[in-house]
Amino acid sequence: MQTQIGCPDCGTTIPIDTKLLLSGQRFMCSRCALSISLASESHALVQDAVRGFDRLVAMKEAVGEKATRHLKQRTL
Ligand SMILES: [Zn+2]
Repeated sequence: MQTQIGCPDCGTTIPIDTKLLLSGQRFMCSRCALSISLASESHALVQDAVRGFDRLVAMKEAVGEKATRHLKQRTL
């Protein structure tokens, strides 16, 4: 999942990939070269958030499918 955070030091937007972040990847600020990585105590929290997001996407797709089916039935 692509997202972005503001650099805690200079405020520059740093694009990050939460899956890479969870796998231990570091991201660097393009302006001040500050290195961003996930603290081990935040790991579970971020993982939960990513899982929640994936669930949300799945739910949205399921609802969209139902709505499409409903529309098809109505046009018949
Ligand atoms: Zn910075």
